[in-house]
Amino acid sequence: MPTPFVSKRAPLFADVPDEKWNDWRWQLSHRLNTAEEIEKVIPLTESERKALQTQGLFRVDVTPYFISLIDPNDPEDPVRRQVIPRSEEMQSFTAMMEDSLAEDRHSPVPGLVHRYPDRVLMLVTTQCASYCRYCTRSRIVGDPGQTFSQAEFDMQIEYLKRTPQVRDVLLSGGDPLVLAPKILEQILTRLREIPHIEIVRIGSRVPVFMPMRITQELTDMLQKYHPLWLNIHVNHPNEISLELEQACDRLTKAGIPLGNQSVLLAGVNDNVHIQRELVHKLVRIRVRPYYLYQCDLVEGAGHFRTPVAKGIEIMEGLRGHTSGYAVPQYIIDAPGGGGKIPVMPNYLLSMSDHKVVLRNYEGYVTTYEEPTDYVPEKAAKFKGIKRPEPGQAGIHGMLEGDVMSIKPEGFDQIHDRGGIQHRLKDEKKWVPLGIGDGGDANKEK
Ligand SMILES: *Cc1c(COP(=O)(O)O)cnc(C)c1O
Repeated sequence: MPTPFVSKRAPLFADVPDEKWNDWRWQLSHRLNTAEEIEKVIPLTESERKALQTQGLFRVDVTPYFISLIDPNDPEDPVRRQVIPRSEEMQSFTAMMEDSLAEDRHSPVPGLVHRYPDRVLMLVTTQCASYCRYCTRSRIVGDPGQTFSQAEFDMQIEYLKRTPQVRDVLLSGGDPLVLAPKILEQILTRLREIPHIEIVRIGSRVPVFMPMRITQELTDMLQKYHPLWLNIHVNHPNEISLELEQACDRLTKAGIPLGNQSVLLAGVNDNVHIQRELVHKLVRIRVRPYYLYQCDLVEGAGHFRTPVAKGIEIMEGLRGHTSGYAVPQYIIDAPGGGGKIPVMPNYLLSMSDHKVVLRNYEGYVTTYEEPTDYVPEKAAKFKGIKRPEPGQAGIHGMLEGDVMSIKPEGFDQIHDRGGIQHRLKDEKKWVPLGIGDGGDANKEK
């Protein structure tokens, strides 16, 4: 038997009756947010006290449950760093931005981010159960004045109805699971009325901040809206408690596949041994590690950032060393709105026309002999299979022969050198002549 997960309660809450402690409404209404309150649970450092007394600080709120996971005697506790502000939070840094992922630029209507061809991010609230200090959406999160109105919600639904390429809707915020149950159910009902929406996903840290919210009543409601997927957000093994295990058990028993998205954070989980323990504990509670994010270039998160090399090193220490199921993908969410980009160590060392040279996690170097008589299937075989929307086929589209090159903005003007249209400049010259199939045998003609 692996060691059982444990339950913790800070001494300040020792006298709270169980039925209150286990009531998510009690947890929400007893969140700690001032230096005076927090100091009753953990002695504050100078830096933390200073931050908590700063005007205009990104919202602070910690549930009694989550603050109980902190070791009060450790000023560097990994749970503490995630929710208790420090003065470093006020420091700016090179390339820091308010909206580093340019989500607002990819937003056709308020609260909807349509960045990828077939899926959207739908922000349904700005409120959370507790607030992560490195929040990528701190520009709106925590501020009740920024929350979405019924009219905006109607606009989101209207957009989805008229956008049939969207097959996957990711509910986030804020945290969708802090919404009043009726409102959440209304959102799910409205989404399920749209025939082209195949799956709905929820991104929530509620199971981690307030596992008592995951009641039987909630999972009974959620399972009416399948296929429904849910990603939680755990960064450190200390966050995996008996209560979280029970909450995840309820969710998986309701048929909801669980994933985890974590953020690589200096002083919290920037170490391969911590990450390995984290992913092992996650798979024990049937949560599949999904993404490990490089920390975004967002205000307040400077002191949490690590070099990208740290993430590569962690991936090197996971892949092969543990179950494939336990290995997340390391992702840099590209500043400026480029979207998620996976990064990993190199395993492909070299290649020739019929052979590749590979290395494994142990440093064993080998070759894979490729076929020399491979003929790709003709496109006709794939009739009736959906193709991506034109213009977003990307690098794969280049392989398919949709476009020959992708140019940086202003490329043609620069290279025109202010010249004139003359007899040697004919656009047709730069279109492949089409001898053979131009390398795109799979293309439908
Ligand atoms: C992360 C994200 C998604 C979902 O991405 P997956 O890689 O499919 O999990 C969708 N839209 C936006 C804007 C996102 O940031």
